[in-house]
This record gives sequence, structure tokens and C-alpha cells, in this order.
Amino acid sequence: MADEIEPTVESSSLSFSPKFNLDYAPALESTSIVSIDPEYGLFIGGQFVEPQSGESFTTVSPSTEEPLARIAAASALDVDRAVKAARRAHTKVWGPMSGRDRAKYLFRIARQLQERAREFAVLETIDGGKPIRESRDVDVPLAAAHFFYHAGWADKLEYAFPGRRIAPRGVVGQIIPWNFPLLMLAWKVAPALATGNTVVLKPAETTPLTALLFAKLLQDIELPPGVVNIVTGAGATGSALVEHGDVDKLAFTGSTSVGKQIQRSAAARRVPLTLELGGKAAHIVFEDAALDQAVEGVINGIYFNQGHVCCAGSRLLVQESIADSFVDRLKQRLSTVRVGDPLDKNTDVGAINSAEQLGRITELVAAGISEGADCYQPQCSLPDRGYWFRPTIFTNVQQSHRIAREEIFGPVLSVLTFRTPEEAVAKANDTQYGLSAGIWTEKGSKILWMADHLDAGVVWANTFNQFDPASPFGGYKESGFGREGGLQGLSPYVSLSSNELSSSTGGS
Ligand code: NAP
Ligand code: MG
Repeated sequence: MADEIEPTVESSSLSFSPKFNLDYAPALESTSIVSIDPEYGLFIGGQFVEPQSGESFTTVSPSTEEPLARIAAASALDVDRAVKAARRAHTKVWGPMSGRDRAKYLFRIARQLQERAREFAVLETIDGGKPIRESRDVDVPLAAAHFFYHAGWADKLEYAFPGRRIAPRGVVGQIIPWNFPLLMLAWKVAPALATGNTVVLKPAETTPLTALLFAKLLQDIELPPGVVNIVTGAGATGSALVEHGDVDKLAFTGSTSVGKQIQRSAAARRVPLTLELGGKAAHIVFEDAALDQAVEGVINGIYFNQGHVCCAGSRLLVQESIADSFVDRLKQRLSTVRVGDPLDKNTDVGAINSAEQLGRITELVAAGISEGADCYQPQCSLPDRGYWFRPTIFTNVQQSHRIAREEIFGPVLSVLTFRTPEEAVAKANDTQYGLSAGIWTEKGSKILWMADHLDAGVVWANTFNQFDPASPFGGYKESGFGREGGLQGLSPYVSLSSNELSSSTGGS
């Protein structure tokens, strides 16, 4: 596989010889903690049920291409069954339940996620290809943290919205992508449940397994049937959920193109909607920055999770005076990044999530080369099977190049330069997206000025990719609207007696 997709590589004019022998012995995480059923039904009304569609699909391990399980594909009829179960649960159980009792369930979920953290982490890595180090240290702990955080709000909503009458929306339809499957589930499900809503959730086609393990966890903690329903399937299943006439609120994380379709549909029926979409973040490094830390930040910003990150720092804007030496440092650091088996605890960059995504990355990298940018990739070896892409740096990039404008959603960094803060802001904002940005400088006043002028929902200073359930996350422009996390993330899930804080289609 690796040989077929390799793009033309211009090797660096520099040759680096690491001072140490960096060949680590493999440190494989055992998979014995995980048991994968040969097939899974839909999780509706607290039970796994056969799909009325009679259809199913296979989820594979992207690092081995091995089939893992057959997954039910929900049709519009199945989605209807799930919405009806959620409606019943909302009317009879979850809506009338006190916040204090709802909180108990959320705390139970959070604790169970912690107790079964290794199982979830290993399964996430097998199904999605991300390094075990990340699923173990980032995805699963953050997912548990989201449930703990929202459990805390469940009985304190009157403090979140003082002086207002607060009511849940009702049944919410939620659609999530494949890059952080369990974490995106937590971002969606935790605030919905805390505020008294019931849920129909559609996971991504390539990564359904942790959502289905989560369904089993819900059975174990005896969450009332129908409060959370999980309908697996492809885009058509998501579309059926969006088009369903009895959903009171929609929340979507995914690509801007699908987000636009959903917005059209929701707007026509005036269904409240939040959208978390794509990004093309500027990661800005000034000459006065602590450069060693900045190198680590830039590497983490783009190669974390194979670059399958909506807020990835995919455009490096580096001050012209240090551009050459900074790029040299980046290349040197890249030569020590380990690509390979995601179950190996030494691995930094795992497998690309799917053959389809590998195709998209390969196509955009080829476009970068043909448009005249210089492509650098370290000569690391790649496994024989699975979907892999070498970490890539493009220099000599123009603003007009596709690799500077389009979201690649892969381990590919495009380097541009600037001379003044004003030019950095102008280039950073010259994009259809507005999700995130990073700034590296020693000067606090420069950070504040830049943050004020950047069109980005989150701006990190002298760090990158920091997430906390108390901190709202979301975008501007074509990166979407509405916020997830924090107080701001609760408001789309409630109706308030005053319009002032309530969310409606188009914003929150
Ligand atoms: P996608 O194609 O938009 O898919 C996202 C989800 O929507 C998947 O569950 C997908 O199902 C489903 N879907 C596909 N077509 C649909 C339709 N017509 N109606 C309803 N649902 C539909 O996005 P992706 O390529 O999987 O994910 C990558 C994108 O997500 C990137 O652009 C990234 O920036 C964005 N993202 C944003 C954030 C954020 O917080 N802003 C976070 C993560 C990812 P299938 O899996 O079957 O296709
Ligand atoms: Mg898979």
C-alpha cells in the first residue's frame, strides 16, 4: 500500500545524523482487554436491535486493513424508531427527572469511562488508527472529563442561566466524525443529557466501535432505555436523522460541505442547529519566540492524530528573519518522529483513518508539488499493510496554492512567511475558515494584539491543542457556529424564557 501512494519526494538538501540511536524496541499495547463482537445491531431503546433495513457494512482496522466487525446500517425507518424511543424517554423519564438524578447518571458514565479507560483506548486505536499514546492520554481522559464537567452542571442550571426559565429542547440528533470518535461523542452527549434532552447519535462509518462499547456501558450503568440511541450507518443515515420531522435540535461535527447541506435543511424547518466544521489554522511563529518550544508546538500542532484535527496548525506562518533556520529545526525534529503501528506505545504518527482519506491527502500533496511548492518527507519506513502517509512539510508555498487554502486533514504542513504582525494577521485571516490559531512570541502585548485581530474561535499562545471541558470551542466563518464546552456549550441545548441567551439556527 505504502509503495503505491508515495508521492514524489524531494529530499532535503540537508542531511541530519541523529546523535543517538533512536531505534526503540517495540512496546506493543496488548489487545486482550478488548473483545469485538462479529456483528453489532443498532442501539435503540436500551437494546441492540436488528436493523429493519437488513443492511450492514464492515469496519476495518486502518493499520492492518483487517475486517473487525459487521455493523448495522440504519435506514430512515430505523432512524424513525430511534427518534420515537428518544421521544418516549424524554416525555416519560428524562425530561421530568430532577437535575440531581440526571447528574448521578452522568457521574456514573464518567467513572465507568475512567474504569474502562484502557479498553476504550485500545478499541479506539484498533478501529481508527490513532496512536495508543493519544487515545490513552488524550481522547479517553478528556471524554471522561466532559461527563464529569457536565454532571456538575446538571443540577445547577439555574446558576448557568440565572433568572430564566430553563427547559430542555427535547430530542436531539447528533452526527459526529471519525477523527476523535469517543471524544466527539462525549462533546455531544454530555451537554445534551445534562440539560435534560434525549439523544439519537450517528457515529462515523469508519469508527463506530467505541460508540457501540459506550452503548454497552450505558446498559451497565442502567441508563433509562431510550435516553441515548445510537444509529450506525453511512451519510444516508445521517441525512435521515437531519430530515426527520420530530427532532428538536441538531448538532453536527464534520466537513464544511456536509455542514452546508445540513444548514439548508435545518433552516427550512427552523430546527436549532450548531455546526463544528473544518479549519485551516495559522500557526504563527515570531523571531523572538522560544524556538525549541515553538518547534515542539508546531510538530504537535500538525502531526497530532495524523493531522486529522479540525483545529490542526496546518499553515505555519514564520517570521522571515528566522524562516530558514526554523524550517531546518522542524526537519531535524521530524526525522525523530516515529510513524507506524498505532498500538506501539512509541508511535507518534499512526495510520491514516481510511483508504478514502489517504486518497484525499495524496491528491492534495500531488497538487502542492505540481503547483511548485517544495515537498520534504523524512525517509522513515512504513508498514507493508494499512494506510500510511509520511509526515510532510511544504516550503516555498504561495497563498494561492491549494495546500495553503484547502483543509488537507492529514500530516501535511504548509510553510509561509511574514515580516510584520500586520502581514501575519492578513495572511492568517485570508481563508474561508476561522476555527483556531497559534502564536509563539515572548511579548505578551503582541499576543494580545494578535489574538484581538485573528478571526479564530480559539487562539493558543505559546502552546497548541489544549482542550478543557470548561473552555468553549467553535469557529467563525465556514468553520461553523455555536460553541461546545463550557457555559456557552450548554445554551444550544436549552430553551430559555428570555430570547437573550437562547440559540437558534444560525448561532448560539
Ligand atoms: P463528513 O464527511 O462531513 O462526515 C461527518 C459525519 O457526517 C459522519 O458521521 C458522516 O457519515 C456524516 N455524513 C456524511 N454525509 C452526510 C449527510 N449528507 N448528511 C448527514 N450526515 C452526513 O466529515 P469527515 O470527512 O468524516 O470528517 C472530517 C471533517 O470534520 C473535517 O472537515 C474536519 O475539519 C471536521 N471536523 C471538525 C471538528 C470541529 O469541532 N470543528 C471536529 C472534528 C472534525 P460517514 O462517516 O458515513 O461519512
Ligand atoms: Mg474502522
